[in-house]
Amino acid sequence: MDFEPRYTQEQEEFRQEVREWLKDNVSPDISHPADSAKSGPEQYDLRRDLGRRLGSKGWLWATAPEEYGGGGLSLDHAVVLEEEVDSYGLTIPPYYDSGGRLGGASIMVWGSEEQKQEFLPKIFRGEVRTWQLLTEPEAGSDVASVKTRAERNGDEYVINGQKVFVGSDLGCDYMWTLTCTDNEAPRHQNLGWFMIPADLPGITVQPMDLLIAGGESGAGSGVKNTVYFDNVRVPAFNLVGGENEGWKVATTHLELEHGSGGRIGRNWMVDNLFDYCRKTNRRGEPLTKDPDVRDRLIDIYMEAEVARLFNLRNYWMRHSKTNLTYEGPQASYFRKMSGLRMSTAILDILGPSALTHDETWGAGNGHMESHQRSAIVAIHPGGTADIQKVIMARRIGIGREVRERAGALA
Ligand SMILES: Cc1cc2nc3c(=O)[nH]c(=O)nc-3n(C[C@H](O)[C@H](O)[C@H](O)COP(=O)(O)OP(=O)(O)OC[C@H]3O[C@@H](n4cnc5c(N)ncnc54)[C@H](O)[C@@H]3O)c2cc1C
Repeated sequence: MDFEPRYTQEQEEFRQEVREWLKDNVSPDISHPADSAKSGPEQYDLRRDLGRRLGSKGWLWATAPEEYGGGGLSLDHAVVLEEEVDSYGLTIPPYYDSGGRLGGASIMVWGSEEQKQEFLPKIFRGEVRTWQLLTEPEAGSDVASVKTRAERNGDEYVINGQKVFVGSDLGCDYMWTLTCTDNEAPRHQNLGWFMIPADLPGITVQPMDLLIAGGESGAGSGVKNTVYFDNVRVPAFNLVGGENEGWKVATTHLELEHGSGGRIGRNWMVDNLFDYCRKTNRRGEPLTKDPDVRDRLIDIYMEAEVARLFNLRNYWMRHSKTNLTYEGPQASYFRKMSGLRMSTAILDILGPSALTHDETWGAGNGHMESHQRSAIVAIHPGGTADIQKVIMARRIGIGREVRERAGALA
């Protein structure tokens, strides 16, 4: 069976259009992951600028409806866009933003028409960036146990509580947040889902300085924060899905985050590693001449290929509105565990230079070292590896008597 996609004449013409446009619009100063690992505000600004340009063409969220700021384009267009942007080592969007893929997708399913008009165009055009605020000190894997309290007061809700491990560096415009709207109501019927403007009085963002998760290239997701809500007054309009209906809204972004909403780009670390092994000599010969090295490189290649094909399958299923069941957590679990297996193989091949983040001694401009760190960290976000297995078991009928259904997608 041939899993590789084929393209029509029309799709190839669209590809040419995208290529020309990217040539004119991707700044040469944006760092490529295979060349260097620049980060910081300058990279972030360049990427946000590119995001806005893509957004104004309808290419940031290509398949989102035009009336809400998306491109109104087909799945085929979206695939071409993802592939072409990936060839610059970038993603869509080219910076950390949980708005379009997760928060915006939830508003598409559960928001009122007025809420869609208010929030979606700015997200889909790249005018704002959002963070997702789910985890609390006592509610991680069991996110339905959140205690951050939202109490109705006239036309507003007053929010008090604390979120951890959230966001990125360099701030955001909106925080979409899961809260408890009723202390007495049963589990899953006591939550509220809010779009909260990040500049409201009473919000404090405190970086978690001891946790830098290996984010690179100005994408900015490496820094995590604690966010405190101290009597934050949020308009009732910003409650999406209705009071005590927050769990329903969360099922959409949780489904996407648990592997159904993955990307289809290649793994640049693998290209970078192969290139390094071709160009680096050990005992007078390129590393790739060593049969043991080749053996481990093939293991890495296969891990990356299987992960890519799982993502490609899920991307197609999601956009063609084919019912997903176990496929999301399957892809997520595989990606997390295969990251660890790849780390071990990289260490076998490179030894100490896989542990050095230094442009001279660190292999691949230090990327191999950052992979060692980020592969471990990646076990946790978006549901831990254990939780992916729990969900998968429920979906294939061995975790619950009645098979659990996937969360609602647009
Ligand atoms: C880099 C990074 C980025 C993150 N980004 C965000 C973000 O943007 N927004 C946000 O809200 N949160 C974010 N998180 C938080 C993340 O979602 C949580 O860390 C995760 O859900 C696990 O929660 P916890 O850390 O409280 O661990 P716990 O839930 O306390 O789990 C501890 C251990 O117990 C295991 N475990 C728990 N329950 C079960 C079970 N039922 N069966 C088997 N094993 C179980 C877990 O797998 C884990 O090994 C991020 C975390 C990291 C590390």
